[in-house]
Amino acid sequence: MRKVWYKENPALLVEMKEEIKDDFPNLHFYESNGVIVVEGSFPIRHDKKSLDRYSIKITFLKDYPKSIPIVEEVGGRIPRTLDRHMNEKGEACLFLPEQRSEIWPIGSTFLEFLNCPVHNFFLGQSLVERGEAWPFGVWDHGVRGIRDYYVQLFGTEDMDIVIKFMLFIIAPKIKGHWPCPCGNGKRLRGCHFPFLLELRDKIPRNVAQRSLQFLLEAKSGKRKLKDNLI
Ligand SMILES: [Zn+2]
Repeated sequence: MRKVWYKENPALLVEMKEEIKDDFPNLHFYESNGVIVVEGSFPIRHDKKSLDRYSIKITFLKDYPKSIPIVEEVGGRIPRTLDRHMNEKGEACLFLPEQRSEIWPIGSTFLEFLNCPVHNFFLGQSLVERGEAWPFGVWDHGVRGIRDYYVQLFGTEDMDIVIKFMLFIIAPKIKGHWPCPCGNGKRLRGCHFPFLLELRDKIPRNVAQRSLQFLLEAKSGKRKLKDNLI
């Protein structure tokens, strides 16, 4: 069996502790039930001033950095509702798994994780608490968020075409002489081939597969667009 990441690569854990200690002195690492947890007070800055603090907990699952760490607000301050991008367990929805390669690609550091998606998430919460609008573009949650993401990505609301495109992301191989999923009658190589090859690099198969499953269930009526998935 493969060892858990921090036993396989203890240097990574040392590096993570080292890189955050100056900017986040109030976050502390510990081990609990075979996973690494970081807990403490997380500062929010806005316009170079300190704006706020949150009590947070971040859990690194066994397959980190493949999996995205789970971020929780443990101070009981943020309502656990979808419009605040929180699930019932108090876990933050930082971004869709599909967006990972844009927001926090594999190989990025823990410090970058804290400074970008985590900081933005809590900054957004503070601004919303003050009656301001959520400052970042975010996708809606659950099935609707997934649908909106792919509708925009493929530039069509026709779900049959969206689903065909997704099958081309998931397929073990795609070939230039196949008909293009966009439905304009051309072969792939004269049409969406480069676009699809890029997406196949960007979106992990299992992520696309999971989203496709939700979209198929929504199409057949087994799921509603408002269903929460996080
Ligand atoms: Zn095409």
